Amino acid sequence: VCPVDCIHPTPAEPGFATAEMLYVDPDVCIDCGACVEACPVDAAKDELDLEPREVVFLQLNASYYKTARDPAAQTKIEPVKREAVAGLRVAVVGAGAAGCFTALQLLRNPGVTVDMFERELVPFGLVRFGVAPDHQDTKAVTKIFDQLASKRGFTLHLGVEIGRDLLPEDLAAGYHAVVYATGAGEPRQLEVEGAHMPGLVAAAHVYGWYNSSLEPELDELDLSSETVVIVGNGNVALDIGRTLLSSGTDLGRSDISSRAVAHLENSPTREVVVLGRRGPESAAFTTPELVGLTFDEDVAVRVEPAGAVDAALELPDLDPLTRVKLELMRDLADQADAGAERQLVLRFWSRPAIIRGVDRVDGVVVVEQAPDSAPREITIETSTVISSIGLGARPLEGVPHDADRGFIPTMDHRVLDADGTPSRGLYAVGWAAQGSSGGIGTNKLLSQRTATAIEDDYAAGHLGQVADDAAQKVTDALASADRLGMEDWRRLDAQERAAGADAGRPRIKASTRQEILDILARAH
Ligand code: NAP
Repeated sequence: VCPVDCIHPTPAEPGFATAEMLYVDPDVCIDCGACVEACPVDAAKDELDLEPREVVFLQLNASYYKTARDPAAQTKIEPVKREAVAGLRVAVVGAGAAGCFTALQLLRNPGVTVDMFERELVPFGLVRFGVAPDHQDTKAVTKIFDQLASKRGFTLHLGVEIGRDLLPEDLAAGYHAVVYATGAGEPRQLEVEGAHMPGLVAAAHVYGWYNSSLEPELDELDLSSETVVIVGNGNVALDIGRTLLSSGTDLGRSDISSRAVAHLENSPTREVVVLGRRGPESAAFTTPELVGLTFDEDVAVRVEPAGAVDAALELPDLDPLTRVKLELMRDLADQADAGAERQLVLRFWSRPAIIRGVDRVDGVVVVEQAPDSAPREITIETSTVISSIGLGARPLEGVPHDADRGFIPTMDHRVLDADGTPSRGLYAVGWAAQGSSGGIGTNKLLSQRTATAIEDDYAAGHLGQVADDAAQKVTDALASADRLGMEDWRRLDAQERAAGADAGRPRIKASTRQEILDILARAH
């Protein structure tokens, strides 16, 4: 996109996979605006268009270029291998960001066939069911995935579950390569006394609830208390905190579940306390997400214990980007209006010791242990504790699974069997292969590398042949499965958007499988 290569880190540079955002080199940029035009999620902005609260991004950008970068440490980007991959048949399991990026990468080669299997009746995984409703710009990444519809060799099978409609061994026999991009759907268990009680809920079930999950684990979130506590301070915790404190009017313009908006509007919850077990310098949330907290003027951001951020700013060897994040936290805390109607508390050095209650949660006992201070116990009254400490992949019978770490074990994107040897033709990508870490952009890079691994293995003759009867078995199973395809999705998408436009919203999502089938039947 950039004619002068001034956007860093590039996918070939170290740090791309963990970068919180991309940075424009001001010494090289020629202000041509090409990135502003091209960015599908409207993330690139001219500095003159920044809102006052976004000005911190200029500081972050400058800080990035203060850190020494090694331009020599580039990864080689592999050229497209057209002839060598002709005839390659790949099954991609999972239609989330990792699966879609992998399919797009493979389909650069017109000779490749990709069948994508998704157990839900809609594609895009967490982009639809996870990304916060007020982050519609992020959801716009689906514009890129829409390109799949026009790719020769691509077929989408929605509503087909591997393990039920087809088995992993059917796919292994019916395709040269199978990519598991099944995500991480299993919340990590919070190991603390009382964590079994109703009122302790997993973050994934909360965002599933307000994002109209088709498999809701939570009928309704208990928002009967003034305070809600979230354990863990990653971006998911901030997304949930922001959503619970948003006014219904703002959310009502998003694609949030209408039922959730009504519930939030009627709730007395006015404070969300986010518990981080380490100090502010180790907060898991990213600076852009912290900036996101400043957008709602009705929400004050407090930091506890007092002095935690100042102490962190005194630490030796702080990297420039962490310093900007800490300074922003300090400014937010300094400016926080103690009388604000809604409060988000970033509480550091704090871990839950007991989830308190008799039959259900009525509070949480927190131990605060800052460095050089005696431990202190604090009790927070609440009916709801949200555990936001990450997710693991769900084990799938017939696919290797590392139970300790909670994901599919891989080396160089190839799935490892119990002996640690690569299983022929099996690959995994995204959260299925690494647990819940990294955003949508991270998946893009890993998907490209996974596609390259498949292309290399096929070109080297490591993937064997697909027997006609094995391919036929898959075709027969699909013929008898109740499934939807790309055309159905496009019709549903259009209907959801049209329903949203009438109500001034980006879309109104169908929230049950039956509703999807009914909408499609009416749209015929
Ligand atoms: P995360 O970033 O890994 O944060 C998990 C949090 O849980 C950390 O604060 C961690 O503390 C804490 N934790 C883990 N085990 C714990 C335990 N036993 N007791 C107490 N605390 C515990 O996970 P996430 O928030 O679920 O996000 C997952 C990924 O999605 C991240 O890469 C995130 O950046 C990405 N994401 C991005 C966006 C965005 O870009 N807008 C939005 C949502 C999610 P320690 O740090 O001390 O381990």
